[in-house]
Amino acid sequence: MAWRSSGTSNKELVENLRKNHVFASQKAYDAMLAVDRGDFTRSDPYQDAPQRIGYNATISAPHMHAAALDYLQNHLVAGANALDVGSGSGYLTVCMAKMVGSTGTVVGIEHMGELVELSKKNIEKHHKEMLDSGNVVLVEGDGRQGFAEKAPYNAIHVGAAAKGVPKALTDQLAEGGRMMIPVEGEDGNQEFMQIDKIDGKIEKKTVEHVIYVPLTSRDKQWSGHR
Ligand code: SAH
Repeated sequence: MAWRSSGTSNKELVENLRKNHVFASQKAYDAMLAVDRGDFTRSDPYQDAPQRIGYNATISAPHMHAAALDYLQNHLVAGANALDVGSGSGYLTVCMAKMVGSTGTVVGIEHMGELVELSKKNIEKHHKEMLDSGNVVLVEGDGRQGFAEKAPYNAIHVGAAAKGVPKALTDQLAEGGRMMIPVEGEDGNQEFMQIDKIDGKIEKKTVEHVIYVPLTSRDKQWSGHR
């Protein structure tokens, strides 16, 4: 059903996602309405499908972004501090920043320097003020280590599938915080997991089955990296 949400404009795409009940949250809907996916991919931006953005990376399908924002809606509140691991095109980082507002911060960490540059250019098209104010911070680095300098995080989104849940990420989750992360099992299947830190304890729950590109090293992802 989610794949039926394609449109001919950003508005139509987001309306169709709502019609198909991909969203429950008004805040996630408002964020996706305010961020034109066309700024972040040139190929078929309003199709409900992932698109290649180079370097063996993709911008995830809109219904997956919608679901991720929905699961994080109560954690991406005004003033919250969030981390987007594998920020790629920068699209979801900006949606998350819309939800935390001008008093919040979203760090996007991406290991391909070329994609960090691309995401900066994408964001500058209509959301330059987020970069100027420090509301969005883009970092080149291995997201499996998180980004300790700005931790702890109320919300963490991981946009690539890990073999297990990286300990650095659970460590950097704030008390009461939530992480959404695709995790690959022994059988190669991936599960989208919701990880909450409650009274210092980690609670895990599988919410759906998904297909993401792997959370890996730069060499494994793209042999031509600089
Ligand atoms: N959420 C982004 C990108 C999703 S694709 C978007 O929708 O545009 C997953 C991204 O994770 C890719 O950009 C890839 O380069 C990045 N990635 C993979 N392994 C990583 C790692 N270890 N550290 C940081 N980024 C990583």
